[in-house]
Amino acid sequence: MGKIQDITGTTGVLGLIGNPVRHTMSPLIHNTISEEMGKDLRYLPFPVEEDVTAAVKGAYHLGILGLNVTVPHKTAVMGTLSEIDDAAKMIGAVNTLVRTERGYKGYNTDMPGLGRALKRRGISLKGQQVVILGAGGASRAACALALTEGAKEIYLLNRTKERAEKLAAEMTEKADALAGEKAAPGRIIPLAASEYARVPRNPSIFIQCTALGLHEGDGLLIEDDNFYHMAEYGYDLVYNPAVTPFMRKLESFMIPCDNGLTMLLYQGIIAYELWTGVSVPDELADKVLNRMERRLYGENYVLTGYMGCGKSTVGKALAEARSMAFLDTDAMIEEAEDCSIREIFEEQGEEAFRDMETEMLKRLSATAVNTVIATGGGIVLRPENRRLLKEIGQVIWLSASPEETLHRVKEDTGRPLLDSASEAELAEKIERMLRERGPAYGAAADRVIHTDGREIAEIVKLISGE
Ligand code: NAP
Repeated sequence: MGKIQDITGTTGVLGLIGNPVRHTMSPLIHNTISEEMGKDLRYLPFPVEEDVTAAVKGAYHLGILGLNVTVPHKTAVMGTLSEIDDAAKMIGAVNTLVRTERGYKGYNTDMPGLGRALKRRGISLKGQQVVILGAGGASRAACALALTEGAKEIYLLNRTKERAEKLAAEMTEKADALAGEKAAPGRIIPLAASEYARVPRNPSIFIQCTALGLHEGDGLLIEDDNFYHMAEYGYDLVYNPAVTPFMRKLESFMIPCDNGLTMLLYQGIIAYELWTGVSVPDELADKVLNRMERRLYGENYVLTGYMGCGKSTVGKALAEARSMAFLDTDAMIEEAEDCSIREIFEEQGEEAFRDMETEMLKRLSATAVNTVIATGGGIVLRPENRRLLKEIGQVIWLSASPEETLHRVKEDTGRPLLDSASEAELAEKIERMLRERGPAYGAAADRVIHTDGREIAEIVKLISGE
């Protein structure tokens, strides 16, 4: 799986129809899941400008197993389907088509996607006062979720009050059908944004569904700080930038909050589960999320190389130049173990230290975003580590000659593998270790940068491609 050459006559096709589809994250979500779960499926974007009916009919005849639908076809596509799920009927929009014998069945995975995103944070809307900001398409999923989960009261605030009133009336009418016997539908109270003072000052869950935050200089629907004090938790459907104005406001009052990337992730995962019948494990969900974050907020650089090659100095300078975070695996291990690398080597042995490195790389491969990571000199020795390093980001081997390395490390007493009686012995040891480790550095690296005779600034520019 993974390579284009692996596509065969039995490879199944999934896809997205919409316009535009140029910036979609969906192929990344679905192709990562297929790759990791060993499914012979490929997900492709299909730009469909107008005739969505013809596109869906054609897709069915082409044997396409499942489709996502995005703007502007989420409502129009409903007329082309053999069946529509209740939740999608209530929301009035379909974003997922599942192939059946009679045609495609339509679902809306935005609503359960938001539900799973909140659950990931331990948030339930049951019995809660929920404040929804915005009354556009995305607010429908939030309203439907709050109703289905049995929120006590739902305050729907919008710049244009009529739109909030219309949505509240429509949702209330359909709520019984969706809630069935599971929960009594809550109450939706539509308000103009300017009427925010009418929301009772009870602890609330805030869900930000306006488009505010997408553009530089965007403000908030409601600017009054006081209004946000009643929030116990806030979820912003906007996910780019990573920290939205709404989140900045809540964070300034120490109120926990998240952006909408997890909703995007879970609407995709739920669609995938509907298409294939599999259950996507939590660890894989984390991995997909990390890939999405890296695509949106910045890839990582991993610096490898022998002691004294400049990983830390170059790494810090690179991080500063590119407004990235900086991490050092040795420093992280020392902090986690609360002792020095030398002590770990002396008390637990090299193998135990290498295990710690592998665990650290596993953690970084699921969490690091927009970060420069300097790694320990021997980290590349394990094949598993070499795979993990590539998974984390672009791996750059900072190489240095034995002479330059000797010059840089001879005064340093913190490196247990370099303990030697004399300078000649040290030189011989460096030469031998560089020879032995060279192939492993080469196998791990995406790029090699020779550091002899180069200033830090020059190396940073070379890495940045400037
Ligand atoms: P929409 O149907 O166009 O609705 C836009 C909403 O934003 C309306 O409530 C609108 O108020 C409000 N709004 C826009 N500009 C405003 C301004 N300058 N001041 C005050 N209010 C303003 O859009 P949508 O489909 O609901 O999408 C809204 C946001 O959710 C988008 O940013 C989208 O990217 C995001 N979203 C995220 C996910 C996810 O998976 N995370 C899923 C769907 C959508 P009026 O009614 O007064 O115009």
